[in-house]
Amino acid sequence: MLILTIMIYVVGSSNTDMVVRSEKLPAPGETVIGESFLMNPGGKGANQAVGASRLGGQVTFIGKIGDDLFGRGTLDHFRQEGLVTDFVVTDPELPSGIALINVNAAGENCIAVAPGANNALMGQEVLAGLEKLTAGDIVLVQLEIQPEAVEAAVNRAREKGAKVILNPAPARHLPDNLLHDLFLITPNETEAALLTGMPVSGEEDVRRAAQMLLQKGVRNVVITLGSRGALIRTNAYERMIAAPEVTAVDTTAAGDCFNGALAVGLSERMNLEDAVRFACAAAAVSVTRPGAQSAMPYRKEVVRE
Ligand code: ATP
Repeated sequence: MLILTIMIYVVGSSNTDMVVRSEKLPAPGETVIGESFLMNPGGKGANQAVGASRLGGQVTFIGKIGDDLFGRGTLDHFRQEGLVTDFVVTDPELPSGIALINVNAAGENCIAVAPGANNALMGQEVLAGLEKLTAGDIVLVQLEIQPEAVEAAVNRAREKGAKVILNPAPARHLPDNLLHDLFLITPNETEAALLTGMPVSGEEDVRRAAQMLLQKGVRNVVITLGSRGALIRTNAYERMIAAPEVTAVDTTAAGDCFNGALAVGLSERMNLEDAVRFACAAAAVSVTRPGAQSAMPYRKEVVRE
């Protein structure tokens, strides 16, 4: 019997993070001399796509870059990471997305992001990238692109019977029609609070927020809880999945790793609970090392508990 590969389409942002470490952060009007400079690939969409690819997913990235040095670097990097890049669009005018990050000796940071081409990804370009989408495929979307692009991805997936995972980050209000009949939403506690309009701190609140999201028509809810793991809520059951105990050194992009892994688990036809366990295992590895994409584990490093 022929078993078709389930494809993962990640629709989202890509950035180049430029990090200067210095003793202190510059005050307005001040120049400080840094001790080191690092350039890292980032952006939630790209992080999740690379995370999913490293774990064995067949990943197509749909996004927009500028016609510049950073855009070309991003494209080369995506190819090295095994992503299908046919639908990475180059904007002729806007620069690629970048983030300028200053970090002081205490580890505090200040960040300025210029989304550039990410903000110009059009609904039509998303639809072109999803042309070969079939029932059962997975579409993974975050909110670092314009609402029009998010809506195009979600609606096309709905029409085709594909599964959407909406990672509602960074936190933003979403219209009810976007949530209706959504396959899966994966907020952290802050995002769950914004989406439901209720405070979310403590287990009871998390449960109530998940229930409220179900009432808005989402079919499956997974609320990520940092070192406590994740809560799954569906119309059929509720389950708390504990995170493996690890010594965390940097939790940057833990959520991105989690979402990428979740997509891979589902693409391998795991049930939701097993996919969330796999995602917790992968994200636990990612927090044991520094960085965003550089911290994303390969499949052989992830032990499913
Ligand atoms: P970030 O913004 O840092 O990317 P997030 O706020 O989107 O993360 P979290 O809920 O903090 O998301 O973390 C996502 C998942 O990563 C958790 O559900 C958990 O599985 C894993 N995780 C995060 N922190 C830890 C930790 N200290 N130990 C083990 N697992 C962790």
